[in-house]
Amino acid sequence: MSAARVLDCVVVGAGGAMGSAALFHLAKRGVQVLGLEAQPSAPHSYGSSHGLSRIIRLSYFEHPSYVPLVREAYRLWRGLEQESGERLLTMTGCINTSPPDADCGPGTSCFQGALRSGKSSSKLLPCSQEHGLAHEVLTSSEVEQRFPGYHLPPSFQTMYEPEGGFLVPERCIQAHLHLAQRHGAELLCGAKVLGWQVGAQGLVRVQTTRGEFIARRLVLAAGGWMPQLVPQLRPILTVERQVVGWFQLVPEQRQHFTPQVFPVFLLHDETRYFYGFPADEHGFKVGLYHHLRQVTTADSVDRSVSSADEEALRQCVRRYFPEADGRLTRAAVCTFTNTPDLDFILDRHPLHGQVVLASCCSGHGFKFAPVIGSILADLAMEGATPHDISPHRLSRQRPGQAAVLDAFARGGGDAAARL
Ligand SMILES: Cc1cc2nc3c(=O)[nH]c(=O)nc-3n(C[C@H](O)[C@H](O)[C@H](O)COP(=O)(O)OP(=O)(O)OC[C@H]3O[C@@H](n4cnc5c(N)ncnc54)[C@H](O)[C@@H]3O)c2cc1C
Repeated sequence: MSAARVLDCVVVGAGGAMGSAALFHLAKRGVQVLGLEAQPSAPHSYGSSHGLSRIIRLSYFEHPSYVPLVREAYRLWRGLEQESGERLLTMTGCINTSPPDADCGPGTSCFQGALRSGKSSSKLLPCSQEHGLAHEVLTSSEVEQRFPGYHLPPSFQTMYEPEGGFLVPERCIQAHLHLAQRHGAELLCGAKVLGWQVGAQGLVRVQTTRGEFIARRLVLAAGGWMPQLVPQLRPILTVERQVVGWFQLVPEQRQHFTPQVFPVFLLHDETRYFYGFPADEHGFKVGLYHHLRQVTTADSVDRSVSSADEEALRQCVRRYFPEADGRLTRAAVCTFTNTPDLDFILDRHPLHGQVVLASCCSGHGFKFAPVIGSILADLAMEGATPHDISPHRLSRQRPGQAAVLDAFARGGGDAAARL
Protein backbone atom coordinates (compact mmCIF):
# COMPACT_ATOMS: atom_id res chain seq x y z
CA MET A 1 0.00 0.00 0.00
CA SER A 2 1.61 3.29 -0.98
CA ALA A 3 1.66 6.51 1.01
CA ALA A 4 0.71 8.46 -2.12
CA ARG A 5 -2.80 7.01 -2.16
CA VAL A 6 -5.30 9.06 -0.14
CA LEU A 7 -7.74 6.84 1.71
CA ASP A 8 -11.23 7.93 2.77
CA CYS A 9 -10.60 6.79 6.33
CA VAL A 10 -8.10 5.03 8.58
CA VAL A 11 -9.25 3.20 11.75
CA VAL A 12 -6.66 2.72 14.50
CA GLY A 13 -7.29 -0.23 16.81
CA ALA A 14 -8.98 -2.45 14.22
CA GLY A 15 -8.25 -5.60 16.22
CA GLY A 16 -10.34 -4.38 19.16
CA ALA A 17 -14.08 -4.31 19.81
CA MET A 18 -14.74 -0.73 18.71
CA GLY A 19 -12.21 -0.52 15.88
CA SER A 20 -13.37 -3.75 14.24
CA ALA A 21 -16.99 -2.57 14.43
CA ALA A 22 -16.09 0.84 12.98
CA LEU A 23 -14.17 -0.84 10.16
CA PHE A 24 -17.20 -2.97 9.35
CA HIS A 25 -19.69 -0.08 9.35
CA LEU A 26 -17.44 2.16 7.26
CA ALA A 27 -16.76 -0.56 4.70
CA LYS A 28 -20.43 -1.50 4.52
CA ARG A 29 -21.19 2.12 3.61
CA GLY A 30 -18.76 1.92 0.73
CA VAL A 31 -16.01 3.96 2.41
CA GLN A 32 -12.48 3.16 1.26
CA VAL A 33 -11.08 2.29 4.69
CA LEU A 34 -7.91 0.83 6.15
CA GLY A 35 -7.81 -0.73 9.61
CA LEU A 36 -4.52 -0.58 11.50
CA GLU A 37 -3.79 -2.96 14.38
CA ALA A 38 -0.62 -2.95 16.46
CA GLN A 39 -0.76 -6.63 17.38
CA PRO A 40 0.42 -9.17 14.81
CA SER A 41 -3.02 -10.77 14.57
CA ALA A 42 -6.61 -10.05 15.53
CA PRO A 43 -8.48 -10.84 17.67
CA HIS A 44 -5.80 -11.06 20.36
CA SER A 45 -5.53 -11.15 24.14
CA TYR A 46 -3.51 -8.01 24.95
CA GLY A 47 -6.28 -5.40 25.12
CA SER A 48 -9.73 -5.27 26.70
CA SER A 49 -11.72 -7.60 24.46
CA HIS A 50 -10.70 -11.18 25.20
CA GLY A 51 -11.85 -13.82 27.67
CA LEU A 52 -14.62 -15.71 25.82
CA SER A 53 -17.65 -13.89 27.26
CA ARG A 54 -19.13 -10.41 27.81
CA ILE A 55 -22.47 -9.65 29.42
CA ILE A 56 -25.20 -7.91 27.48
CA ARG A 57 -28.31 -6.65 29.30
CA LEU A 58 -31.03 -4.11 28.71
CA SER A 59 -31.69 -2.89 32.24
CA TYR A 60 -28.92 -0.38 32.72
CA PHE A 61 -28.55 0.63 36.35
CA GLU A 62 -25.74 2.99 35.35
CA HIS A 63 -28.00 5.37 33.37
CA PRO A 64 -31.24 4.92 31.42
CA SER A 65 -29.80 6.74 28.38
CA TYR A 66 -27.83 3.57 27.61
CA VAL A 67 -31.01 1.56 27.02
CA PRO A 68 -31.76 2.84 23.48
CA LEU A 69 -28.13 2.19 22.57
CA VAL A 70 -28.31 -1.40 23.85
CA ARG A 71 -31.55 -1.97 21.95
CA GLU A 72 -29.84 -0.86 18.76
CA ALA A 73 -26.80 -2.99 19.65
CA TYR A 74 -29.02 -6.07 20.01
CA ARG A 75 -30.48 -5.39 16.56
CA LEU A 76 -27.02 -5.00 15.06
CA TRP A 77 -25.57 -8.08 16.83
CA ARG A 78 -28.41 -10.17 15.41
CA GLY A 79 -27.81 -8.68 11.97
CA LEU A 80 -24.13 -9.53 12.29
CA GLU A 81 -25.01 -13.09 13.26
CA GLN A 82 -27.15 -13.40 10.16
CA GLU A 83 -24.60 -11.89 7.82
CA SER A 84 -21.68 -13.89 9.23
CA GLY A 85 -23.52 -17.15 9.92
CA GLU A 86 -21.78 -17.20 13.33
CA ARG A 87 -23.43 -17.64 16.70
CA LEU A 88 -22.31 -14.59 18.71
CA LEU A 89 -25.06 -14.05 21.27
CA THR A 90 -26.52 -16.49 23.82
CA MET A 91 -29.61 -15.37 25.70
CA THR A 92 -29.69 -16.57 29.31
CA GLY A 93 -31.50 -13.79 31.18
CA CYS A 94 -29.70 -11.60 33.69
CA ILE A 95 -29.82 -11.56 37.49
CA ASN A 96 -29.26 -8.18 39.19
CA THR A 97 -28.95 -8.88 42.88
CA SER A 98 -27.82 -7.12 46.05
CA PRO A 99 -28.71 -6.68 49.71
CA PRO A 100 -30.99 -3.68 50.29
CA ASP A 101 -28.17 -1.51 51.61
CA ALA A 102 -25.53 -2.28 48.93
CA ASP A 103 -24.14 0.80 47.26
CA CYS A 104 -23.29 0.40 43.59
CA GLY A 105 -23.22 4.09 42.86
CA PRO A 106 -24.03 6.98 45.10
CA GLY A 107 -27.12 5.92 46.98
CA THR A 108 -28.47 2.99 44.99
CA SER A 109 -28.10 -0.77 44.98
CA CYS A 110 -27.75 -2.77 41.80
CA PHE A 111 -31.21 -4.25 42.40
CA GLN A 112 -32.82 -0.85 42.97
CA GLY A 113 -30.88 0.75 40.16
CA ALA A 114 -31.88 -1.90 37.67
CA LEU A 115 -35.49 -1.82 38.81
CA ARG A 116 -36.33 1.76 39.52
CA SER A 117 -37.10 4.34 37.02
CA GLY A 118 -39.50 6.75 35.75
CA LYS A 119 -39.94 8.94 38.74
CA SER A 120 -36.70 10.74 38.24
CA SER A 121 -34.45 12.09 35.58
CA SER A 122 -31.62 11.47 38.04
CA LYS A 123 -28.66 9.50 36.74
CA LEU A 124 -29.05 7.28 39.76
CA LEU A 125 -32.53 5.94 39.29
CA PRO A 126 -32.67 3.92 36.12
CA CYS A 127 -34.35 2.06 34.38
CA SER A 128 -36.60 -1.04 33.92
CA GLN A 129 -39.82 0.75 34.72
CA GLU A 130 -38.70 3.85 32.83
CA HIS A 131 -38.16 1.91 29.65
CA GLY A 132 -40.91 -0.65 30.20
CA LEU A 133 -38.43 -3.53 30.22
CA ALA A 134 -39.66 -7.02 31.03
CA HIS A 135 -38.50 -7.99 34.50
CA GLU A 136 -39.44 -9.98 37.60
CA VAL A 137 -38.64 -9.34 41.24
CA LEU A 138 -37.60 -12.56 42.99
CA THR A 139 -36.74 -13.62 46.53
CA SER A 140 -33.54 -15.59 47.05
CA SER A 141 -35.47 -18.85 47.49
CA GLU A 142 -37.38 -18.20 44.25
CA VAL A 143 -34.04 -17.59 42.50
CA GLU A 144 -32.69 -20.88 43.85
CA GLN A 145 -35.80 -22.84 42.83
CA ARG A 146 -35.61 -21.56 39.28
CA PHE A 147 -31.83 -21.39 38.94
CA PRO A 148 -30.38 -24.03 41.31
CA GLY A 149 -26.75 -22.94 40.79
CA TYR A 150 -27.51 -19.77 42.80
CA HIS A 151 -27.32 -19.72 46.62
CA LEU A 152 -28.06 -16.12 47.56
CA PRO A 153 -28.57 -15.00 51.18
CA PRO A 154 -32.25 -14.48 52.14
CA SER A 155 -31.73 -10.73 52.53
CA PHE A 156 -30.74 -10.26 48.87
CA GLN A 157 -33.20 -8.62 46.49
CA THR A 158 -33.15 -9.81 42.91
CA MET A 159 -34.39 -8.34 39.65
CA TYR A 160 -34.40 -10.88 36.84
CA GLU A 161 -34.56 -9.60 33.28
CA PRO A 162 -35.13 -12.15 30.52
CA GLU A 163 -33.40 -9.98 27.88
CA GLY A 164 -29.87 -10.56 29.12
CA GLY A 165 -27.15 -12.89 27.98
CA PHE A 166 -23.59 -12.99 26.77
CA LEU A 167 -21.51 -12.43 23.65
CA VAL A 168 -18.33 -14.25 22.62
CA PRO A 169 -15.98 -11.29 22.08
CA GLU A 170 -13.34 -13.02 19.97
CA ARG A 171 -15.99 -14.33 17.58
CA CYS A 172 -17.64 -10.88 17.41
CA ILE A 173 -14.36 -9.18 16.46
CA GLN A 174 -13.59 -11.90 13.96
CA ALA A 175 -17.04 -11.51 12.37
CA HIS A 176 -16.71 -7.72 12.10
CA LEU A 177 -13.23 -7.99 10.57
CA HIS A 178 -14.15 -10.77 8.18
CA LEU A 179 -17.23 -8.97 6.88
CA ALA A 180 -15.45 -5.60 6.77
CA GLN A 181 -12.90 -7.14 4.44
CA ARG A 182 -15.65 -8.74 2.41
CA HIS A 183 -17.15 -5.24 2.00
CA GLY A 184 -13.79 -3.96 0.74
CA ALA A 185 -11.91 -2.82 3.87
CA GLU A 186 -8.18 -3.42 4.14
CA LEU A 187 -6.72 -4.67 7.41
CA LEU A 188 -3.08 -4.33 8.38
CA CYS A 189 -1.97 -6.13 11.54
CA GLY A 190 1.42 -5.59 13.16
CA ALA A 191 1.08 -1.90 12.19
CA LYS A 192 1.54 0.11 15.38
CA VAL A 193 0.67 3.77 14.97
CA LEU A 194 3.61 5.90 16.06
CA GLY A 195 2.12 9.32 15.42
CA TRP A 196 -0.46 11.27 13.45
CA GLN A 197 -0.80 14.86 12.26
CA VAL A 198 -3.30 16.91 10.31
CA GLY A 199 -1.65 18.66 7.37
CA ALA A 200 -2.38 21.85 5.52
CA GLN A 201 -5.15 20.54 3.26
CA GLY A 202 -6.84 18.81 6.14
CA LEU A 203 -5.44 15.41 5.26
CA VAL A 204 -4.33 13.19 8.14
CA ARG A 205 -0.88 11.58 7.98
CA VAL A 206 -0.50 8.42 10.06
CA GLN A 207 2.96 6.99 10.74
CA THR A 208 3.16 3.31 11.63
CA THR A 209 5.77 0.62 12.06
CA ARG A 210 4.66 -0.53 8.58
CA GLY A 211 4.85 2.78 6.77
CA GLU A 212 2.93 6.02 6.47
CA PHE A 213 -0.69 6.40 5.33
CA ILE A 214 -2.73 9.42 4.32
CA ALA A 215 -6.48 9.72 4.81
CA ARG A 216 -9.28 12.26 4.81
CA ARG A 217 -10.62 10.93 8.12
CA LEU A 218 -9.11 9.16 11.12
CA VAL A 219 -10.86 7.08 13.80
CA LEU A 220 -8.82 6.49 16.96
CA ALA A 221 -10.17 3.52 18.93
CA ALA A 222 -7.05 2.28 20.67
CA GLY A 223 -8.54 1.13 24.00
CA GLY A 224 -5.97 1.33 26.81
CA TRP A 225 -3.49 3.01 24.47
CA MET A 226 -5.66 6.11 23.91
CA PRO A 227 -3.64 8.12 26.49
CA GLN A 228 -0.59 7.65 24.25
CA LEU A 229 -2.35 8.48 20.99
CA VAL A 230 -4.29 11.46 22.38
CA PRO A 231 -2.27 12.75 25.36
CA GLN A 232 -4.83 15.49 26.03
CA LEU A 233 -7.20 12.77 27.32
CA ARG A 234 -4.81 11.67 30.07
CA PRO A 235 -6.57 13.66 32.84
CA ILE A 236 -9.74 11.59 32.38
CA LEU A 237 -8.42 8.16 31.38
CA THR A 238 -7.16 5.62 33.90
CA VAL A 239 -6.06 2.16 32.82
CA GLU A 240 -6.85 -0.50 35.45
CA ARG A 241 -5.77 -4.15 35.67
CA GLN A 242 -8.55 -6.77 35.73
CA VAL A 243 -8.52 -10.54 36.19
CA VAL A 244 -11.25 -13.06 35.43
CA GLY A 245 -11.10 -16.69 36.50
CA TRP A 246 -12.73 -20.02 35.64
CA PHE A 247 -13.46 -22.48 38.46
CA GLN A 248 -13.97 -26.21 38.20
CA LEU A 249 -17.46 -27.42 39.07
CA VAL A 250 -18.46 -30.40 41.15
CA PRO A 251 -19.20 -32.80 38.24
CA GLU A 252 -22.68 -33.80 39.47
CA GLN A 253 -23.73 -30.12 39.62
CA ARG A 254 -22.66 -29.15 36.11
CA GLN A 255 -26.25 -29.24 34.92
CA HIS A 256 -27.04 -26.29 37.24
CA PHE A 257 -24.57 -24.08 35.38
CA THR A 258 -25.64 -24.55 31.76
CA PRO A 259 -26.87 -21.49 29.80
CA GLN A 260 -30.41 -22.90 29.86
CA VAL A 261 -30.69 -22.67 33.67
CA PHE A 262 -27.98 -20.24 34.68
CA PRO A 263 -28.51 -16.54 33.84
CA VAL A 264 -25.53 -14.19 33.71
CA PHE A 265 -25.38 -12.08 36.86
CA LEU A 266 -24.39 -8.79 38.43
CA LEU A 267 -24.05 -9.24 42.17
CA HIS A 268 -23.32 -6.35 44.50
CA ASP A 269 -22.71 -7.44 48.05
CA GLU A 270 -21.70 -5.20 50.94
CA THR A 271 -18.55 -3.92 49.29
CA ARG A 272 -17.98 -5.63 45.99
CA TYR A 273 -19.52 -5.98 42.56
CA PHE A 274 -19.10 -9.43 41.02
CA TYR A 275 -20.31 -10.65 37.66
CA GLY A 276 -20.41 -14.10 36.11
CA PHE A 277 -21.54 -16.48 33.39
CA PRO A 278 -22.86 -19.99 32.83
CA ALA A 279 -20.11 -22.59 32.69
CA ASP A 280 -18.17 -23.15 29.47
CA GLU A 281 -15.61 -25.86 28.70
CA HIS A 282 -13.19 -24.27 31.22
CA GLY A 283 -15.63 -24.05 34.12
CA PHE A 284 -17.58 -21.30 35.85
CA LYS A 285 -16.29 -17.80 34.98
CA VAL A 286 -16.37 -14.97 37.52
CA GLY A 287 -15.04 -11.42 37.59
CA LEU A 288 -14.84 -8.69 40.22
CA TYR A 289 -15.55 -5.23 38.82
CA HIS A 290 -12.43 -3.06 39.39
CA HIS A 291 -10.76 -6.22 40.76
CA LEU A 292 -7.93 -5.12 43.12
CA ARG A 293 -8.11 -1.49 41.93
CA GLN A 294 -4.61 -1.57 40.40
CA VAL A 295 -3.85 1.40 38.18
CA THR A 296 -1.47 0.48 35.36
CA THR A 297 -0.74 1.20 31.71
CA ALA A 298 -1.67 -0.88 28.69
CA ASP A 299 2.00 -1.71 28.05
CA SER A 300 3.17 -2.35 31.62
CA VAL A 301 0.19 -4.27 33.02
CA ASP A 302 1.22 -7.33 35.06
CA ARG A 303 -0.12 -10.29 33.06
CA SER A 304 0.71 -12.93 35.66
CA VAL A 305 -2.05 -14.18 37.97
CA SER A 306 -1.35 -14.22 41.72
CA SER A 307 -2.96 -16.00 44.66
CA ALA A 308 -4.45 -12.62 45.68
CA ASP A 309 -6.16 -12.44 42.28
CA GLU A 310 -7.54 -15.94 42.70
CA GLU A 311 -8.70 -15.33 46.27
CA ALA A 312 -10.58 -12.14 45.30
CA LEU A 313 -12.62 -14.14 42.77
CA ARG A 314 -12.97 -17.26 44.89
CA GLN A 315 -14.70 -15.23 47.62
CA CYS A 316 -17.68 -14.85 45.28
CA VAL A 317 -17.65 -18.52 44.26
CA ARG A 318 -17.32 -19.82 47.82
CA ARG A 319 -20.08 -17.64 49.21
CA TYR A 320 -22.73 -17.71 46.47
CA PHE A 321 -21.89 -20.63 44.13
CA PRO A 322 -20.28 -23.27 46.37
CA GLU A 323 -20.73 -26.07 43.80
CA ALA A 324 -18.17 -24.28 41.64
CA ASP A 325 -15.55 -23.91 44.39
CA GLY A 326 -13.08 -26.19 42.65
CA ARG A 327 -9.64 -25.68 41.15
CA LEU A 328 -8.91 -22.47 39.18
CA THR A 329 -8.64 -23.89 35.68
CA ARG A 330 -7.94 -20.73 33.72
CA ALA A 331 -7.53 -16.98 34.22
CA ALA A 332 -7.19 -13.95 31.97
CA VAL A 333 -5.66 -10.53 32.66
CA CYS A 334 -7.29 -7.66 30.85
CA THR A 335 -7.55 -3.87 31.22
CA PHE A 336 -10.35 -1.40 31.83
CA THR A 337 -9.85 2.15 30.56
CA ASN A 338 -11.93 4.18 32.98
CA THR A 339 -13.29 7.70 32.83
CA PRO A 340 -14.09 9.39 36.18
CA ASP A 341 -17.86 9.01 35.68
CA LEU A 342 -17.56 5.65 33.86
CA ASP A 343 -19.33 7.05 30.79
CA PHE A 344 -17.59 6.77 27.42
CA ILE A 345 -15.64 9.24 25.31
CA LEU A 346 -17.23 9.38 21.87
CA ASP A 347 -16.68 12.58 19.96
CA ARG A 348 -14.84 14.45 17.26
CA HIS A 349 -11.42 15.82 18.15
CA PRO A 350 -11.97 19.41 19.36
CA LEU A 351 -9.25 20.79 17.06
CA HIS A 352 -9.59 18.45 14.10
CA GLY A 353 -13.14 17.56 13.08
CA GLN A 354 -11.88 14.87 10.72
CA VAL A 355 -10.44 12.90 13.66
CA VAL A 356 -12.88 10.88 15.77
CA LEU A 357 -12.09 9.66 19.28
CA ALA A 358 -13.52 6.57 20.96
CA SER A 359 -12.77 5.33 24.45
CA CYS A 360 -15.70 3.08 25.23
CA CYS A 361 -14.73 0.91 28.11
CA SER A 362 -15.02 1.70 31.83
CA GLY A 363 -15.67 -2.01 32.03
CA HIS A 364 -19.03 -2.04 30.24
CA GLY A 365 -18.48 -1.11 26.59
CA PHE A 366 -18.38 -4.41 24.73
CA LYS A 367 -22.12 -4.95 24.40
CA PHE A 368 -22.37 -1.60 22.55
CA ALA A 369 -19.62 -2.32 20.01
CA PRO A 370 -21.76 -2.49 16.85
CA VAL A 371 -23.75 0.63 17.66
CA ILE A 372 -20.54 2.44 18.59
CA GLY A 373 -19.02 1.28 15.30
CA SER A 374 -21.94 2.81 13.42
CA ILE A 375 -21.71 6.03 15.48
CA LEU A 376 -17.98 6.26 14.70
CA ALA A 377 -18.79 5.84 11.01
CA ASP A 378 -21.44 8.60 11.31
CA LEU A 379 -19.06 10.99 13.08
CA ALA A 380 -16.20 10.31 10.69
CA MET A 381 -18.13 10.59 7.44
CA GLU A 382 -21.10 12.84 8.29
CA GLY A 383 -19.72 14.82 11.24
CA ALA A 384 -22.85 13.97 13.28
CA THR A 385 -24.91 11.01 14.43
CA PRO A 386 -28.65 10.55 15.03
CA HIS A 387 -27.89 8.68 18.28
CA ASP A 388 -27.90 10.56 21.57
CA ILE A 389 -24.25 10.57 22.59
CA SER A 390 -24.45 13.67 24.80
CA PRO A 391 -23.29 11.77 27.94
CA HIS A 392 -20.13 10.78 26.05
CA ARG A 393 -19.14 14.09 24.48
CA LEU A 394 -15.95 15.87 25.55
CA SER A 395 -18.09 18.92 26.33
CA ARG A 396 -19.96 16.89 28.96
CA GLN A 397 -19.10 18.09 32.45
CA ARG A 398 -17.16 15.48 34.38
CA PRO A 399 -14.27 15.48 36.83
CA GLY A 400 -11.06 16.35 34.99
CA GLN A 401 -12.90 17.87 32.04
CA ALA A 402 -11.39 21.34 32.56
CA ALA A 403 -7.87 19.88 32.39
CA VAL A 404 -8.75 18.06 29.16
CA LEU A 405 -10.21 21.14 27.50
CA ASP A 406 -7.19 23.13 28.67
CA ALA A 407 -4.82 20.52 27.22
CA PHE A 408 -6.63 20.67 23.86
CA ALA A 409 -6.54 24.47 23.94
CA ARG A 410 -2.79 24.43 24.64
CA GLY A 411 -2.38 21.79 21.92
CA GLY A 412 -2.52 24.59 19.33
CA GLY A 413 -3.48 24.16 15.72
CA ASP A 414 -1.73 20.89 15.01
CA ALA A 415 -2.05 18.33 17.80
CA ALA A 416 0.81 16.18 16.56
CA ALA A 417 0.72 13.04 18.66
CA ARG A 418 4.16 11.55 18.26
CA LEU A 419 4.78 8.66 20.63
C1 LIG B 1 -12.30 -8.29 32.34
C2 LIG B 1 -13.26 -7.46 31.55
C3 LIG B 1 -14.62 -7.75 31.60
C4 LIG B 1 -15.53 -6.99 30.89
N1 LIG B 1 -16.85 -7.34 30.91
C5 LIG B 1 -17.72 -6.69 30.12
C6 LIG B 1 -19.06 -7.15 30.01
O1 LIG B 1 -19.43 -8.17 30.62
N2 LIG B 1 -19.90 -6.48 29.18
C7 LIG B 1 -19.50 -5.38 28.48
O2 LIG B 1 -20.33 -4.81 27.75
N3 LIG B 1 -18.24 -4.93 28.56
C8 LIG B 1 -17.35 -5.56 29.35
N4 LIG B 1 -16.05 -5.15 29.43
C9 LIG B 1 -15.64 -3.94 28.69
C10 LIG B 1 -15.35 -4.23 27.24
O3 LIG B 1 -14.68 -5.44 27.09
C11 LIG B 1 -14.58 -3.04 26.68
O4 LIG B 1 -15.41 -1.91 26.79
C12 LIG B 1 -14.18 -3.23 25.24
O5 LIG B 1 -13.58 -4.48 25.04
C13 LIG B 1 -13.24 -2.11 24.82
O6 LIG B 1 -12.88 -2.29 23.46
P1 LIG B 1 -11.87 -1.31 22.74
O7 LIG B 1 -12.00 -1.57 21.29
O8 LIG B 1 -12.06 0.09 23.24
O9 LIG B 1 -10.42 -1.75 23.27
P2 LIG B 1 -9.53 -2.98 22.77
O10 LIG B 1 -10.37 -4.14 22.48
O11 LIG B 1 -8.41 -3.12 23.73
O12 LIG B 1 -8.98 -2.49 21.37
C14 LIG B 1 -8.01 -1.51 21.20
C15 LIG B 1 -7.14 -1.97 20.05
O13 LIG B 1 -6.26 -0.92 19.67
C16 LIG B 1 -5.03 -1.51 19.34
N5 LIG B 1 -3.99 -0.46 19.43
C17 LIG B 1 -3.59 0.18 20.54
N6 LIG B 1 -2.63 1.08 20.25
C18 LIG B 1 -2.44 1.02 18.92
C19 LIG B 1 -1.55 1.70 18.03
N7 LIG B 1 -0.68 2.63 18.47
N8 LIG B 1 -1.58 1.36 16.72
C20 LIG B 1 -2.45 0.42 16.25
N9 LIG B 1 -3.31 -0.27 17.07
C21 LIG B 1 -3.30 0.03 18.39
C22 LIG B 1 -4.87 -2.60 20.39
O14 LIG B 1 -3.89 -3.54 20.07
C23 LIG B 1 -6.27 -3.17 20.43
O15 LIG B 1 -6.44 -4.19 19.46
C24 LIG B 1 -15.10 -5.88 30.13
C25 LIG B 1 -13.74 -5.58 30.08
C26 LIG B 1 -12.82 -6.37 30.77
C27 LIG B 1 -11.36 -6.02 30.68
